[in-house]
Amino acid sequence: MNDKIWLSPPHMGGAEMKFIEEAFFTNWIAPVGPNGDAFEAKVKHYVSRGHAAAVSSGTAALHLALLALQVTKGDIVICQSLTFAASANPIVYQGATPVFVDSEASTWNICPEALTKAILYYIKKGKKPKAVIGVHLYGMPAQLSEILTICDHYEIPFIEDAAEALGSEYNGQKIGSFGTMSIFSFNGNKIITTSAGGMLLSDDPELVSKAKFLASQSRDNAPYYQHSQIGFNYGLSNICAGIGLGQMEVIADRVAQRRANFEFYKNALENLIGLKFQEEPVNCLSNRWLTAFTLDSKRSGVSAESIRIQLADNNIESRRIWKPMHLQPVFSNAPYFGGRIAEELFQTGLCLPSGSSLSQDDLQRVTDIITKHFA
Ligand SMILES: *Cc1c(COP(=O)(O)O)cnc(C)c1O
Repeated sequence: MNDKIWLSPPHMGGAEMKFIEEAFFTNWIAPVGPNGDAFEAKVKHYVSRGHAAAVSSGTAALHLALLALQVTKGDIVICQSLTFAASANPIVYQGATPVFVDSEASTWNICPEALTKAILYYIKKGKKPKAVIGVHLYGMPAQLSEILTICDHYEIPFIEDAAEALGSEYNGQKIGSFGTMSIFSFNGNKIITTSAGGMLLSDDPELVSKAKFLASQSRDNAPYYQHSQIGFNYGLSNICAGIGLGQMEVIADRVAQRRANFEFYKNALENLIGLKFQEEPVNCLSNRWLTAFTLDSKRSGVSAESIRIQLADNNIESRRIWKPMHLQPVFSNAPYFGGRIAEELFQTGLCLPSGSSLSQDDLQRVTDIITKHFA
């Protein structure tokens, strides 16, 4: 059996141990420390944002974003349906109601028309949504100018779930610099990793300092432990932040390597009947966190699932497109606006191994199997 090819394994850059060792030598093993501050500074400089809070996960960052916006029981929060469950779960942590919205066919991200419909529906009912959560799926930037125009018009904060999109760009500007707040994930499978971690960013200093306050148990400024609010333990350890500092040294390479994977796949597979890659609009640059495509199985005679199985039989991990949230059993009662685009992407789409450490031989192995499967 050939070696296992993973979907998106961690890829260390080399400098991580230096920062981790420094933390040990100086005994900064605590949850906060100089690596954390430096990591926040590095990421906010990279995406050109005013303020950042390093936290324990992308999910925690999203939860803090909702807390900072005072989302509470009974509120409406709109969320892209085609995403990982972590985009939506924090809405429920707050006792708010998630309202899911369809994707549009070009970027696979939140559909501006369906978004407008959902907003107007709730405004008419006297329940203006408290926030909109949009995703940059697999690194592909959403249609930000339309979405931000809508959110600005109705004065609803937009939260960028940029968990998958560090290094992507929209109109030459880094993703994560657009919404009222934005979040990144540094989970093990993302484009860079701190093993587990995340970050919340904003240009509004008050939102970020509020998030930091909540993330460290909501301790009042008093000589003893006093709490006027419920707090959370969402900090990022100084050790993990050290991994992040090392990873930030190679972020440009990681983006280039993932984009090169996409080019390889495109050259090898784009002429297969019915196969269509996720498209990059002209004003966008995707980090191509995962290379993803859809298959018209009526034309091609093969399905995303049959390719996935074929790859798995050859010790290669691939993954179906996210199952939309409005089709998840746990969200079966949640309202949904839009058509069947997200559902079709789920049914026809597949993500290929996309790690930045893939060799040319690995990529060739993947494309050979897929090409043979079509024959
Ligand atoms: C990974 C991911 C998250 C959650 O990040 P964690 O660090 O794993 O908590 C949220 N949203 C999307 C779209 C993700 O891919």
